[in-house]
Amino acid sequence: MDIKRQKGRDMLSGDSIEATAEVKRGEHFDSVIQVHSCYKVSGYICVGPKTYMATVNHPASLIIGLKARFELITNSNIPNVYFNFSSYDVLKTRIRDAKILTDYIGRVERNASRSTSTGKVLQKILLQDERERKVEITLWPEMRHLIGDDVIPGDIVAITSTMVTDHNGLLQLELTYLTTTTINPDLPQTIEHVNRLRALPIADITTEKIITLHDLSLKNPQNIQSYTNFICEAKIKHIHDDRGWYYALCSKCSNKLYPEQEGGVLNFVCKDDDDVIPNFRYCVKATITDATGTADVVFFNESMYAMLNISCEDMVTKHAHATNPKKLPHLIASITNTPRLLHITVKNDGKIVVNNVTEVTPTCDTQSTSTFTPATPSAKQTTSKRQYPAATELGEDWKMKRA
Ligand SMILES: [Zn+2]
Repeated sequence: MDIKRQKGRDMLSGDSIEATAEVKRGEHFDSVIQVHSCYKVSGYICVGPKTYMATVNHPASLIIGLKARFELITNSNIPNVYFNFSSYDVLKTRIRDAKILTDYIGRVERNASRSTSTGKVLQKILLQDERERKVEITLWPEMRHLIGDDVIPGDIVAITSTMVTDHNGLLQLELTYLTTTTINPDLPQTIEHVNRLRALPIADITTEKIITLHDLSLKNPQNIQSYTNFICEAKIKHIHDDRGWYYALCSKCSNKLYPEQEGGVLNFVCKDDDDVIPNFRYCVKATITDATGTADVVFFNESMYAMLNISCEDMVTKHAHATNPKKLPHLIASITNTPRLLHITVKNDGKIVVNNVTEVTPTCDTQSTSTFTPATPSAKQTTSKRQYPAATELGEDWKMKRA
């Protein structure tokens, strides 16, 4: 039951209270009240606030049972959304007190997808407030629809019922099952915020920083904020083929599949599911080098695809006749020793991940701070004979938006 925010009186001034009903009464309340309708409520019990995940910061909350009566109020002036935005300074106090769910409004500075080491694609949205202080929202795959790819820098995002956490000094808004998002809200309660945020100068933080491998080695990973991307002009010196070059994910649960050798045939099995289709993904460990030094990095699926223009699935099923994950196909070995622009991020543990690779253009000057246009991977070739249907279309799940 979610009948919060339906206190009808004086809603424009921004008051709200939480009401809780037992899950087993869900059917009853679904029959008498509707979300986004407004009611005068009587016959409730008033108690103190919930002690865990309260949706509003209010000294009281309501318990609603079978005795509660709802009288529909039909007034077209009653808004059907309600925000209680917290300032950045309040967010900081909520890290310690994550019991209160928090609404926030900010301007999008960046909206980009990023792959995890297990092949999941996360959407990361960086917001800033009127004083250019930054907050990040991470959307897991099942929540990515809440802030779509069409949301671009400069858009305003109002997000509700989040939990505040801290990641390397960058505040994070964690979603809950109550979270809603509104893009460019056009409501009386938001107009002042939206106008102030719109008036901000567009900051140039989406530019990736160009760095040498020597300077990169001097960076303390703990001090690198997670939205910082770097570009190195470097070449692959050596591929650590003894550590494998691909893995497979389950088409049903997305967990890693285990290779199983049976009568000379390699199968991929899931510990939970039968009849799964392996979703092959590159994961290539290598040493890269430039004029100043070397670094050990991991090339993820999208960056390998950008260099090879062959999906991992096609590489496994067509080009690597033996699917041995530890025997490097000749095509992959051939990518070494060519200078390229490597778009990288540094993880907390110091691991360097290559997210994308673009070609070095003849006019490129690595000392300048100009931005580069990333090469667009060509659409995956559709093949008439396909040993395994692809679970994920490659080239679609990486995306980097620029201002
Ligand atoms: Zn599975």
